[in-house]
Amino acid sequence: MPQNDPIRPGEVWLVGAGPGDPDLLTRKAERLIRAADIVFYDALVGPAVLDLVPPKAERIGVGKRSGRHSKDQGSINDLMLAAAQAGRRVVRLKGGDPSVFGRSTEEIEHLRAHGVPVQICPGITAASAAAANAGVSLTLRGLARRLQFVTAHARAGEALDLDWAALADPSATLAIYMGRAAAPEIARKLLAHGIAADTPVLIAVNVSLPQERLLSTRLDLLPLSVRALAEEDPALLLIGAAVRPIAETPSQALEARPVRPKAKPAAK
Ligand code: SAH
Repeated sequence: MPQNDPIRPGEVWLVGAGPGDPDLLTRKAERLIRAADIVFYDALVGPAVLDLVPPKAERIGVGKRSGRHSKDQGSINDLMLAAAQAGRRVVRLKGGDPSVFGRSTEEIEHLRAHGVPVQICPGITAASAAAANAGVSLTLRGLARRLQFVTAHARAGEALDLDWAALADPSATLAIYMGRAAAPEIARKLLAHGIAADTPVLIAVNVSLPQERLLSTRLDLLPLSVRALAEEDPALLLIGAAVRPIAETPSQALEARPVRPKAKPAAK
């Protein structure tokens, strides 16, 4: 990627914006954002990341925020196509990593079908950032040998269509995206498939943003623990032995409580 012109006119870059904190952007992502003529961004893109968009560039929000409806995927595809065909340098900013539950393929296919070159810049996905800020590892030698990334977003009135037998694997860490609303069902189904009631769960809300909350709980208490969360805040669930808070005895980990209280430094 040449230093002076990272985006060719008429080209589209799908750029991972990370979980919200601009310090978690890649250097490449930052260069692409600064070179854009037009930026399409999701609701999950952090406000401080958007501050990096040059003032002369056009910004178009295409994600859902509380109360307002998102643009449908077809309109997003068409808007990006029109911008690229007009010879603009297009950045499509997506929360986290574009390749994780980001509907990237639909956008890439649409643009390529019309001859528009598309490239992808990866980002830090919510599961990685949540584990880092909670001070745990997603894998654990001998105990968590497998990672499963799942979305638990169900259409209103429809049951979740997930392979519960596969998900209920005590030697895997389960990262559930968009799982806040479905949390009670997730807990019920995993317990019914034999996962231990005291399996550690980390609920990570607004990861890497100033209003971040990390809650440590256990699987049978998960339905209760998610009740306190605001519906519009992005929340990720991490489930499995690996996410047990380190340096705590298992009995202490049973309580639902903040992993990292925002304590003020003691005055000297
Ligand atoms: N591409 C994104 C995921 C998009 S799906 C990524 O790689 O992270 C949207 C879901 O991601 C949210 O419902 C939530 O479960 C999770 N998520 C994204 N950003 C988050 C954040 N800052 N804090 C907590 N969860 C987040």
